[in-house]
Amino acid sequence: MHRIGFHVSVAQGFLKVFDNAKALDANCCQIFTHSPRSWRFNLVSEDLGKIFKDRYQKKDVWPIVVHDSYLPNLASDDPVMREKSIESIKKEFISCNRLGVEFLNIHPGAHKGQSKEDGLSEICKSLNSIKEDVGNVTLLFENTSGGGSVLGSTFEELKFLLENTDFKCGITLDTCHLFTSGYDISNEEALEDTLSNFNSIVGLENLKLIHLNDTQGEINSKKDRHEHIGLGRIGPQGFKAIVNHKYLKNIPMIMETPVNEKRGDKENIIFLREMIEI
Ligand SMILES: [Zn+2]
Ligand SMILES: [Zn+2]
Repeated sequence: MHRIGFHVSVAQGFLKVFDNAKALDANCCQIFTHSPRSWRFNLVSEDLGKIFKDRYQKKDVWPIVVHDSYLPNLASDDPVMREKSIESIKKEFISCNRLGVEFLNIHPGAHKGQSKEDGLSEICKSLNSIKEDVGNVTLLFENTSGGGSVLGSTFEELKFLLENTDFKCGITLDTCHLFTSGYDISNEEALEDTLSNFNSIVGLENLKLIHLNDTQGEINSKKDRHEHIGLGRIGPQGFKAIVNHKYLKNIPMIMETPVNEKRGDKENIIFLREMIEI
C-alpha cells in the first residue's frame, strides 16, 4: 500500500496530528515541532512524548517525519551562527527521540561564499559534534533546488554528506527540487534515467522519503516554488510515473503543496490516488 500524506500543523496539539492526517485521507505525515521561523523553542516534554509515542505505535499514520526549522545553517563559517544551528538541530533530535519518530528531515545548509567543499565539510563536522544526541533517529538530508549558495542540490553532494556523517543518515528527494536543480522526472523515461543516475552515485537504498511537489520553475532554474500535483512543469505524466514506479511506490510520499483557490490538500491527494495503477 502506498504511504501518502502531507505536512500537517501541530497548532492544535501534537496528539491532533493523527486525526488531522486521517481527515485528509493521509496515512503518513510531516510536522514541525515548533514555529519554523523561531530560534527560541521548547523541547517536546517527556510526558507528551510518552503519550504521543503510545498513540504512534498503532502505525495507522506512519511514518511521521519531523522537518527542522528554516533558520539553522550547519554550513556557516560564522561561529555564532553555527553554534546556534547545532544547538537547534540537537534539540530537534532530542524531541524526535521523545516522540518516538524515526526520521528528522533537514535542509543541508548554504556555504555563503566559502567553497562548496568547505561548506559540505562544515555540515558534517557540525553534525558529528552532536552524535550522542541522535539516539534512534535517522537524519534525512533533503535535496535542494540549489539557488544561491544552497548546498545539497547534486547527487554528488548528497553522497558526500552521507559518507562523512558518523551516524545513521538517509536521503529525502523532493520532486520540485529535483526538477529545478536539473534532474528531469517529467516522464517515465526521464524518471528512469534520473533514478539510475541517483542509484549509481548515492544508492537507492539510501532513499527514505519523497517530498511530492510539482513546480512552477523550469528545469534547472534553481527556483524553489511548489505547485499542485500535475499543475506544474513536472506535470501529470511525471507524477503518474513516480507513483507507479516499482521502487518508489514503497517509499513514503509527503506533499508540501500550496493551499489556495486552485486546490486544497484533499484535491491533491484525490488527484494522486486516481493515478495509482498498481
Ligand atoms: Zn521538501
Ligand atoms: Zn521546496
